[in-house]
Amino acid sequence: MATDFSSSELEAFLDESLPVERMTAIEEALRLDGALQKQLTAINGRRDAGVHSLGDVWRRHRLSCPSREQLGSYLLGVLARDAADYISFHVNTIECRCCAASIADLAAQQSAAEADVTSRRQKYFRSSVGHLRKK
Ligand SMILES: [Zn+2]
Repeated sequence: MATDFSSSELEAFLDESLPVERMTAIEEALRLDGALQKQLTAINGRRDAGVHSLGDVWRRHRLSCPSREQLGSYLLGVLARDAADYISFHVNTIECRCCAASIADLAAQQSAAEADVTSRRQKYFRSSVGHLRKK
């Protein structure tokens, strides 16, 4: 019998935001599983104390991941302020690992592209200098 539900699933259960089948499965498991009951009670207790996990906050505010293009614009600093604030909240406060990884990836690409432009400029400069010297 599968009784391992993730705590985010249990939180969603408390919010009644799971699909019916999943709600029923948890309800059934709760009747038989003392450990699961304790787990759910602990989660509920934490909520009453006003401590919300990030997953909780996430669901409550329906935060979704920005697109890769938006993350790229964020890195370049060309986003509107609202959008930039949202991404910085999403990545720094919510600590979305997925977007943090995308940003690291995009930053590496951007600095590689910049290095490429710089070396091309240097090559061009050297070749024009060479051209001038020949004259
Ligand atoms: Zn994200």
